[in-house]
Amino acid sequence: MAQHPDPYRLPRTVLPSRYDLELTPDLDQASFTGSVSIDVDVTEPVETIWLNAAEIDINTVEIEDATGRRTTVSDVALESDAERLRLALGHTVPEGAYRLHLAFRGILNDKLHGFYRSVFQDENGNEHVIATTQFETTDARRAFPCFDEPEFKAVFGVTLTVPADQFAVSNAPMIDDHPMSDGRRKLMFADTMKMSTYLVAFCIGPFEATEPVDVDGVPLRIVHPIGKGHLTDYALEVGAFSLRHFTQYYGIPYPDQKLDLVAIPDFAFGAMENVGCVTFREVLLLIDRQQATQPELMRAADVIAHEIAHMWFGDLVTMRWWNGIWLNEAFATFMATMAADAFNVNWQRWVQFSLERSAAFEVDSLERTRPIEYSVNSPQDANGMFDLLTYEKGGAVLRMLEQYMGEEAFRDGVRHYLNTHQYSNTETNDLWDAIEEVTDEPARRIMDSWIFQRGFPLLSVESASGGKVTIQQQRFCFTPLKEDTTLWSVPVVLRYGRGDKVAEQRALLESEALDIDLGGDVDWLVVNAGGHGFYRVRYTPALLQQLTPVMMQHLKPIERYGLVDDTWASVLAGSTSAVDFLKFAQGFSDETDLDVWTVLASCLSQLDRLLDGAARQRYQARLRELYGPALARLGWEPRSDDASRTLELRGLLIRSLAIAGQDRDALAACRDLHTQYLDDRSSVEPNIAAAVAAAVASAGSRADYTAFVDRFKHPATPQEERRYQSLLAAFPGVDEMALTLEMTLNGEVRTQDAPYLMAQCMRNREQGVQAWRFVVDHWEQMLDAYPDNAIVRMLDGFKSLSEPDIAAEIEAFFQSHQVPQGELTLQQHLERLRVNAALREREAAPLAAALIG
Ligand SMILES: [Zn+2]
Repeated sequence: MAQHPDPYRLPRTVLPSRYDLELTPDLDQASFTGSVSIDVDVTEPVETIWLNAAEIDINTVEIEDATGRRTTVSDVALESDAERLRLALGHTVPEGAYRLHLAFRGILNDKLHGFYRSVFQDENGNEHVIATTQFETTDARRAFPCFDEPEFKAVFGVTLTVPADQFAVSNAPMIDDHPMSDGRRKLMFADTMKMSTYLVAFCIGPFEATEPVDVDGVPLRIVHPIGKGHLTDYALEVGAFSLRHFTQYYGIPYPDQKLDLVAIPDFAFGAMENVGCVTFREVLLLIDRQQATQPELMRAADVIAHEIAHMWFGDLVTMRWWNGIWLNEAFATFMATMAADAFNVNWQRWVQFSLERSAAFEVDSLERTRPIEYSVNSPQDANGMFDLLTYEKGGAVLRMLEQYMGEEAFRDGVRHYLNTHQYSNTETNDLWDAIEEVTDEPARRIMDSWIFQRGFPLLSVESASGGKVTIQQQRFCFTPLKEDTTLWSVPVVLRYGRGDKVAEQRALLESEALDIDLGGDVDWLVVNAGGHGFYRVRYTPALLQQLTPVMMQHLKPIERYGLVDDTWASVLAGSTSAVDFLKFAQGFSDETDLDVWTVLASCLSQLDRLLDGAARQRYQARLRELYGPALARLGWEPRSDDASRTLELRGLLIRSLAIAGQDRDALAACRDLHTQYLDDRSSVEPNIAAAVAAAVASAGSRADYTAFVDRFKHPATPQEERRYQSLLAAFPGVDEMALTLEMTLNGEVRTQDAPYLMAQCMRNREQGVQAWRFVVDHWEQMLDAYPDNAIVRMLDGFKSLSEPDIAAEIEAFFQSHQVPQGELTLQQHLERLRVNAALREREAAPLAAALIG
């Protein structure tokens, strides 16, 4: 038997260099026929050729030698479990150049992967069908037989035969449009650059494209469902900006011939970086900037920039195997944040990035966290990499390295890396080596400690007289670990004040403790100055006392953010009480920064969940005292010179005062403004419109619910659809919750959104339990209907259900139920639930007593 030993990887004896691929989809029958000719180089004599294929029926296979002689291969077997196609040649084929010819049929599935079909309705209720692709990680093999590993880079020539009235787009520009006698059209696309199979894409359907924008010689278009052209200006502007930004940063021209950004009505991921043909959820690409909130605008800019960053980092230079997926994604996250920061300096994108870093800290504070990079045997092992630790922690440690070495040195290293490895594949350490080649910093040693070890350190800071400071590191965990001696190479940045002088000092902490001499007594001291380090800081009470009075004067917003976030983490870990945290939070009444308010509001709403009855009412009064004056300083009326962060902060404070503070006047004002908005969208500033809608939903009646459903079903923009859809989970009533739960399975909410809406339902303070029980009752149905990657994301919602009996119910359920693509993430959700349950048990009674007493 010609059994290939590695079950997940093809042998390196047959190397593809070029595919000529022809596909004819039948959108009505949900199927397609196709043929592919693959130029291969046989590097040593073989009797068997292996390719990847799945859910494909092979009709014929031929092998053509260098003289042009074709031989039929009749011994062809599809191994469906291994997703491999075995071509037994019947004799030994010597090394040399060959061409494989395969004809096949396949299905257009409805699982949002491979070559898939989706149905959507336009605003007039007419149904349309599209066929599109999502190949990462290993689903190109569902569309055509191929060598489906990132290392097998090749050139692709794509030809699509489509109905005459359909639009089609692929990676490269269309070079021929040939009408056929049966009324269809044969569309031929230019050759792509040399690239991996997972980056091949084509989309067919009732689309249209904007006029191309010339970005220094690269034509950029937005491709979208017919009739939505008026929503493309913003994406074109961000796209053009990002394309220029990255071309300059990388110092390498854009590697493809054109760039299309394609809005897809049904999409399992946020977006996908197919070379020259990037696919997106509509909500991230089709935007009316007059009607969008700041977070909606920023999120779209982030994702557009993220995907364009990949055209070089990921597409031009690609990981050798799926263990490298983290670097691909972490780097694009890092670059997107940089580009968004440059696109709108007002966003202060790196300060906002603190929120993403916090999300990564959350997971990484669990015992069941994982190292960023781990060994990956099967491609499925890598599915667990598309998580917070890859994107957010990965992005954060790259930012930490960049800030420690200097932005220019880091950029030069990146350029050197891309130039050295273009059109080729790499391992993670190739990037560190390239950076070391252009700088003197030990990039590889520093990064190895962050990449291959789980968790992160807590730095404890002590000071003695004369400016002697001692910093110690120890792994931070919500549940203290008995014996964990992990050490990191920690780039530490200190800032301190002496009289009216402020100075900074850098150090690399590589052992358990480090003594630093600041050359004399200091008045105050910040560790993690600049806020880019991926670690938490614990000061002695004395140091903290020095810091608090000068906080607003000497600490940057990102550093105050860190102070709040680190303190909250110590509450979760049991070393600071909830009562002390509340006192600490009330010290921020003069705070002016959006992100500091955001993190405060988030922590305070978690404490709210511990309280009921009279204690909760007292708590709400405290929150009114905090949020009320802050909102009063800004005013409810937007001003023409408001910065974008001010607009967002006003929305946050309105929401916090009305919902968390239960302020009667604010709730009434929200209701009035929302009525006004429903009447005339342009009459309420978008950030306020989103806030007042949330406030109305939080106390909404059945009549309000009906109005929200109507707005969700007849939105003016994808953002409005999204906003009203997610607020359907926020109503307090049992009946409204039941209706929303229904919609997650009856097709009224698309499967790309339903799991996320379900997560929101479980976070509902009043009816979260009802939502959890709905999940239990419909588990099999959800597994069947939702994209595989979304199930574990849905389950994120149960973490807040920390009442002891419910928590026990959840634990019991997962004793006997498996989650596809997310066993480790599920374990993390469960551990986080336990942390919340312990918080409740430890803090609920003392906090209530302190409030009432
Ligand atoms: Zn990405």
